Amino acid sequence: MTSAKKRVLYCPSAPAEADVALVFGVVGGEADAPQLQYLSEPVPLTPELSSLADGIRPEEVYRMTSRCQEQRCQHFSGSSCQLGQRLRDELPAVTSELPPCSIRATCRWFQERGTAICFRCPAVVTQVPAVAAQAPAAKARRRLRVLQP
Ligand code: SF4
Repeated sequence: MTSAKKRVLYCPSAPAEADVALVFGVVGGEADAPQLQYLSEPVPLTPELSSLADGIRPEEVYRMTSRCQEQRCQHFSGSSCQLGQRLRDELPAVTSELPPCSIRATCRWFQERGTAICFRCPAVVTQVPAVAAQAPAAKARRRLRVLQP
């Protein structure tokens, strides 16, 4: 028998509604230059953690990971994540060093796009706040710095 067991990969930009959403980073930096602060290990998105965002959607202030939904996700081509490809192709690198990311072993983007996507990943925000919500989101991010290593 030759069939290898299919590897389970995780989305590095999962929504809060995902079955099991784990927070692995907190968005820092400025509204026009976000800079993800990576947690030393992922933590579950609990109601308490959501409430720290104080009315701001978790996707605006956290990066979360959850099992890749593959065919159920609009970004999946059938064999790979097109969002990861677009980000690698269109975003400039924001670092030349691998970020201290705790989910690399299971990250779909890394598995498919290699280190090039990691050099862009700190600038990715899952949901960019509307202009009117940018000031509250920035305030929430400042408060959330307490979570960062
Ligand atoms: S830094 Fe690399 S491994 Fe970590 S979430 Fe981003 S793309 Fe995935």
